[in-house]
Amino acid sequence: VKAQSSTSTTDFVPEANFYKVEAILRPWRVPQVSSALLRMGIRGVTISDVRGFGAQGGLTERQAGSEFAEDNFVAKVKMEIVVSKDQVDAVIEKIIEEARTGEIGDGKIFVIPVADVIRVRTGERGEKAERMKGGRADMISAASPLA
Ligand code: ATP
Ligand code: GLN
Repeated sequence: VKAQSSTSTTDFVPEANFYKVEAILRPWRVPQVSSALLRMGIRGVTISDVRGFGAQGGLTERQAGSEFAEDNFVAKVKMEIVVSKDQVDAVIEKIIEEARTGEIGDGKIFVIPVADVIRVRTGERGEKAERMKGGRADMISAASPLA
């Protein structure tokens, strides 16, 4: 069974120049995902160790009248990648390709519009701040100089 990814993110509102792709993934799949992203020219990535539950768990119990969640949170990694709008779909497809096992618990991807990007070192904003030297945009323009 192939995972579905028919909708294009660029159809979504609110419209923005940059989007954050936020993926909650199985920790042991992260090295594979990040090296694939690096190969496609994605160089700015932030990850955090998180815990959560989806279809994998999340039973609740009652004790002394108050409800509390059992501590059955599963260790996950949150990967955050801010990219220009035209790179969002390629990033999502690559993450799915590298992270998917087909079993429950493969994770989820959220796409969030980003109002602006500011590089602290230089104070640059917008496209200048989001672009990274030797990054995906440079790779693509080097491959087709007229594009
Ligand atoms: P500089 O040229 O000043 O080094 P830079 O754009 O390369 O700027 P860094 O200052 O090296 O950015 O990045 C610091 C941290 O910010 C990175 O380790 C990473 O966690 C995060 N980061 C940078 N760019 C992105 C991005 N596009 N998406 C997600 N995280 C990012
Ligand atoms: N869009 C940037 C570029 O092409 C890369 C952004 C990123 O690596 N997260 O330079």
